[in-house]
Amino acid sequence: MKRISADLMLTPTGELVAGHQLTFDDRGTIHYFGPIKEQIDEHFSGTVSPGFINTHCHLELSHLENRIPQKNGLHGFISDFLHARKNDPSPDPDAIKNADHQMWENGIMAVADICNTTDSFAVKLVSKIVYHSFIELFDIRKAATHDAYSNGLRLYENALSSQLAASLTPHAPYSVSDKLFSSIAAHNNTTDTLWSLHNQESSGENELFELHEGKLFELMQKAGVDFYDDIPFPTESIQRSSRFFPEKGNILLVHNTFIREKDLHFLFSKNLKDRIWFCLCPLANLYIEDRIPDIALLRKTGAQITIGTDSLASNHQLSVLEELKTIAKHHPEIGTGELLHWATSNGAAFMRLSHLGTFEIGRTPGILNFPELKKAHQQLQENISVHRIK
Ligand SMILES: [Zn+2]
Repeated sequence: MKRISADLMLTPTGELVAGHQLTFDDRGTIHYFGPIKEQIDEHFSGTVSPGFINTHCHLELSHLENRIPQKNGLHGFISDFLHARKNDPSPDPDAIKNADHQMWENGIMAVADICNTTDSFAVKLVSKIVYHSFIELFDIRKAATHDAYSNGLRLYENALSSQLAASLTPHAPYSVSDKLFSSIAAHNNTTDTLWSLHNQESSGENELFELHEGKLFELMQKAGVDFYDDIPFPTESIQRSSRFFPEKGNILLVHNTFIREKDLHFLFSKNLKDRIWFCLCPLANLYIEDRIPDIALLRKTGAQITIGTDSLASNHQLSVLEELKTIAKHHPEIGTGELLHWATSNGAAFMRLSHLGTFEIGRTPGILNFPELKKAHQQLQENISVHRIK
């Protein structure tokens, strides 16, 4: 049994407090967290928090690091991405292994990871990180719906038979037909699981549904999309996608770079507030769209926020801490305790990982140290580093 203290520790409700003791065993199971009451074995300079939860990644794209030009907008990113993948269709297995290792070293305990292939399965099976694999589906053409669903189902069954936690998930509102959305929702309603959607990542997505114009609309027309005529026009992206939210389980909306107050009001009027988490991936947003979401608006409405790294195709590293630093730089008014809470407790709540996320007795949440973070009001600045204690 080890008893430690630190200048500050993160409480289960997201406060950074002094004078606390954390007691854990060899396996990292928490036996006590509260005011110091015993002789301490070791004092850590700076802050101690539970391990991070990364709620959005694409591990299988790890070989595309530095391959896609930055700040070309989502329509540009998709074209460049398809080009890069065509020129290099066989992913380097070492890239996936290295990315998994990098995430562990960066203090990440669990990852909700998007899969279009089985490429990441072997690494996940032996990883120290807990993964949920989102088997991602899209069709674009109505003739492709049947195969998209049956291929996805095969991949899902493959994941389950390999003992990997998995569920079916749609890619994005502009790439998934009503029929495919419905099939995925029906499947998830039988399993009560996790569901995710890339949401309002570009202004082009709003233009597409509201005006039938813009760069994303043009790109999708070129790609042969043929289901837009089946969608009432004009509509709003959230209004349309929310018709296909599963009736049970947890919902993750990823990116939300162009989400607006009216979209949040619409969602929350549907009694969905407790079932939806909003995943922020600010470094990928800056990489692709050169913009970050309206985080002040999300906080004001009381939205549940989590953190994602997205993939190495649109990021230079897979580090939750670097994502938090980016938010802190743009929003110095957000307290460091609140940011750490999003990245730990909220992520674990979305992923339903009741053994992770907070220092509570019986949990094994991982234990991280930020030696340079010595004061509760101190911001997450560039110089702050993360080290694993457990
Ligand atoms: Zn993504």
